[in-house]
Amino acid sequence: MKRLRLALAAACVSFVPAAGAEELRLKTRIIEPRPEDSTTGRVQAAESQPRRVAERRTHWLVQLDPFTADLAEWRLRGATVISSIPVNGYVVAVPDGMNWEGLAFTYRGPILATDKLSAPLRVEGLAIANLAAEEETQLTIVHFHSDVEAWEIEAILEAEGVAGTSLIRHAALADVDRLAGLTRNQIAALGLWDEVEFLYAAPAGMRAGEIFLSCGEALSGGYPVAMLAASYGEGWDGPGRGRASVTYSFGNISNRVAADQFKTEVRRAMDEWARVVAVSFAETATRTATKNLDIQFATGDHGDPYAFTSGTTVLAHSFYPAPPNPEPQAGDIHINDAWSWSVGGQWDLYSVVLHELGHSLGIGHTDDARSVMYPYYQKADGLKTADIDSIRQIYAEAGSTTPTPTASPLSINIVSPTEGVKISGESTNLSGGASNSGAGLKVDYLNETNAAKGSCLVNSTGSTWTCGAVPLSAGENRLTVQGSLGAVKSIARRTLTREANGDVQLTIASPASANASTTAAEIRVAGSASHAAGIASVRWSTSRGRAGVASGAETWSAQVTLETGTNEITITAMARSGIASTKKITVERTAASNPATPGTNPGEDKTPPIMTIQQPIGNYIITSSAKLTFKGTATDNVGVQKVTWTNSAGDQSGVAAANIASGVTNWMFDVNVAVGFNAIQVRAWDTAGNSTLYSTTVRRY
Ligand SMILES: [Zn+2]
Ligand SMILES: [Zn+2]
Repeated sequence: MKRLRLALAAACVSFVPAAGAEELRLKTRIIEPRPEDSTTGRVQAAESQPRRVAERRTHWLVQLDPFTADLAEWRLRGATVISSIPVNGYVVAVPDGMNWEGLAFTYRGPILATDKLSAPLRVEGLAIANLAAEEETQLTIVHFHSDVEAWEIEAILEAEGVAGTSLIRHAALADVDRLAGLTRNQIAALGLWDEVEFLYAAPAGMRAGEIFLSCGEALSGGYPVAMLAASYGEGWDGPGRGRASVTYSFGNISNRVAADQFKTEVRRAMDEWARVVAVSFAETATRTATKNLDIQFATGDHGDPYAFTSGTTVLAHSFYPAPPNPEPQAGDIHINDAWSWSVGGQWDLYSVVLHELGHSLGIGHTDDARSVMYPYYQKADGLKTADIDSIRQIYAEAGSTTPTPTASPLSINIVSPTEGVKISGESTNLSGGASNSGAGLKVDYLNETNAAKGSCLVNSTGSTWTCGAVPLSAGENRLTVQGSLGAVKSIARRTLTREANGDVQLTIASPASANASTTAAEIRVAGSASHAAGIASVRWSTSRGRAGVASGAETWSAQVTLETGTNEITITAMARSGIASTKKITVERTAASNPATPGTNPGEDKTPPIMTIQQPIGNYIITSSAKLTFKGTATDNVGVQKVTWTNSAGDQSGVAAANIASGVTNWMFDVNVAVGFNAIQVRAWDTAGNSTLYSTTVRRY
């Protein structure tokens, strides 16, 4: 108890001064942090009683002091930081039984069911249930926390009667989003689940399959901004509604579009924002200048920790202003060059830049489906009311006479190393400058990842500083530098990756194939894992709702429970530094077949063929290719006659006529895939007319 009191005292100290805890801005309410008494957290948790699929973790809303925040300690205790909520708040997944004693925070509270409902979805009394039965449904996006696994999502939706045809597929949907027509009761019930982050109305066009663009995320302080969060930050003008001048520059421009044409579209989008708020944009050639929005096309890994992975639905991402984001990356816009960008086409550059500029200027996602800042948006011709309301929360209206606020009293910036850089050494030097500074500037650093702290050297005028040999952990390191001039403080952040022994190496040795088949109710999965920091745990989960912890660590094994049918098994090895790797295998559990009797009359054979799919793997495939090759095997106790296939959308020889694959025991076929959804079914037939069906959905852009 002594340690707990000490921690609470620390929390009070950091709360009381003016530079202490700021408000937490949810879409549904503003939370003014108050020093909590030692029982508040537990009482609130008991009252919220979130429903959960797996008794393993709960999502909490916490606010940390930006400098003394020791996220490394949270990670060591098993917590995971999921997303950020302005100001200095985080959604943290806390494992059951975690010891909270000694952790410092300025606020801690549960995420209430009412926090998860977009205003238009809320109705009188929703939170206290006893709703009148309501047949009418509302097309809704159910957005889950990013650590929620697919099987958990499926279990929750099934528990609330959202399954089958009420779930609507849409190509733009993110992994943790589901689209469904929901009754009021279902909306209210879903808000009670811990795994659900936010529920908001979807545009009717999504049901109709219209094309929507999906934003990656708005990034702040190294974490994506939670959908729960209010749709605004502080902006380039600092707190309050002032005027701002920013510059912009261009990096690599896609060769799908003429550079001049692209720049014209960017300027048109800037003019649209400048039409409604007092923000001016001036072009510069200095791409790394502060208060500069650098705009570039990129593919794959492009120098920040947010690679555009293949198969991603992310079209672009952008960075919130500084602070809290580090310069020079703050405000930058990265457009995924894997898409067929054009001016005025389906993947319209004006529309995507207009949306990303909103983030670069400081606003988050709205929950109004008609607005440009909605997470799923369509080709835009200009800003809508919700966008204008949101941006006017942080900037003065265009043409207003509000004076430009004086620059903030002290501003620290990190010059080297640059954001997201990969470093192979065990330590790095940090250096940078300070504006509106003076003699007596004190600079300290904190590596949140390994809790290393220290003081830095500052020159006599307080304009430059250097922190020598800052220890780095393997994997991602989140560094914070704080400058203090008297009582005035300023913070800058950097996220770096130490590459030496970077990733967790994970190998599955048994079963030997990534596509195994068995009749047993259990399979032993075993392998090895390694990392410089040591392996903390190896966990497994299946697409059929089973999960557990493997025994061992560097050498591990697990008895995985199988359901009849396809079981996708995910193995996750986590290093003590908090980074993790996953590997997946698929195990088909077939019903035990009767031993084949030689000479069996084929007419009495009831055993269908056993079919395996060798490629493509997965029951949801995303591709830009116009043609896919399917390959597999088929065996049967009597004999396989043929393998047939259909595509709901592709060119078929006839609607009713199934196409026939070449080969039988080893079969293959090429299928032309149409843009959009293709439901592809493959069926293996035996000579007695029994068949086995395999279905997959291919989404082509
Ligand atoms: Zn966005
Ligand atoms: Zn990027």
